[in-house]
Amino acid sequence: MYIATNTHILVAEFDYVEPTTLEEVFWHLSEHGPQARLIAGGTDLLVQMKMERKNPACLISLARVLELQGMTSNSGLTVGATASIRSLARSEPIGRHYTALAEACNAFSTIPIMVMATLGGNLCNASPAADTAPPLLAFDASVALVSRAGQRVVPLEDFFLGPGQTALRHDEVLRSVHLAESVRGAGSAFVKVARVAADISQVCAAVRVVRDGDHVIDCRIALGAVAPTPVRAHRAEAFLTGQRPDRGRVDDAARIAGEDTKPITDVRATQEYRRHASRVIVRDALTTAWLRAGGRELK
Ligand SMILES: Cc1cc2nc3c(=O)[nH]c(=O)nc-3n(C[C@H](O)[C@H](O)[C@H](O)COP(=O)(O)OP(=O)(O)OC[C@H]3O[C@@H](n4cnc5c(N)ncnc54)[C@H](O)[C@@H]3O)c2cc1C
Repeated sequence: MYIATNTHILVAEFDYVEPTTLEEVFWHLSEHGPQARLIAGGTDLLVQMKMERKNPACLISLARVLELQGMTSNSGLTVGATASIRSLARSEPIGRHYTALAEACNAFSTIPIMVMATLGGNLCNASPAADTAPPLLAFDASVALVSRAGQRVVPLEDFFLGPGQTALRHDEVLRSVHLAESVRGAGSAFVKVARVAADISQVCAAVRVVRDGDHVIDCRIALGAVAPTPVRAHRAEAFLTGQRPDRGRVDDAARIAGEDTKPITDVRATQEYRRHASRVIVRDALTTAWLRAGGRELK
């Protein structure tokens, strides 16, 4: 029987293994086939198992795999897939150079969830409302996917295929996330609207602008929970790039970003609310990012 409200009991039995190397992970994946499922923090997967939406015969934990841990600076920043949301929220380089990502992680649920939840899990779960996705899109992130056959690097924009669907093959593991190097004159911001502070986003937006004098010379605008996948607002980005921003131009860019959303109505918000809120939060994020880039107060 399907019990939609069960969030307390794991009803099915399953095996559980804790490999310590990627090679062992690949071995378990090939041994158990499609019946196996990777688990990192379990904050999405265990809920789905309790609700009987997923019933893996074997869970392969990534928690002790050293190759998936840590953070390195190398023409940008490479973050291991099992980095916790809490570790990113507290990271000094992320706070300084990738402020929108730090803000998204600090706005993420409650501290116990932040400690368990991982960056890789947030992306591989592929919720349209994944809070780390818009800032990562704004920082031109790419993901490294590894299998026994080797590694391929996929731009994050091509990774999300639909709700719960990614470019990841069954034999692959998301190893790390690479963020492009931060440049002089850049500023970023993340804004989230949720029903209550610790809830999943009704809508969220991340913005990164690069300033030269009074002009925007580069711009990224990305939104969550307004389409089947997290999305860039390409038309609004082009509208602002090369321009001298003022309040009217920023309002117009935010309006264009809102017009290009394709939200749905669900338990968290209506389509109309999401479209309207998109416009408001893109405007606020653009204004904050511009000031953080060292730009003058908008008139
Ligand atoms: C109470 C609560 C509040 C929440 N609040 C928020 C919120 O504010 N914002 C938000 O964005 N999310 C929120 N979430 C959702 C969840 O916490 C996040 O999506 C989290 O980042 C998932 O990470 P995890 O490590 O727990 O993933 P898991 O549950 O372990 O895995 C999720 C999926 O990703 C796959 N996977 C995990 N790691 C890898 C990898 N390295 N390679 C390949 N596949 C992998 C798993 O097989 C599984 O399908 C919340 C969840 C709960 C229960």
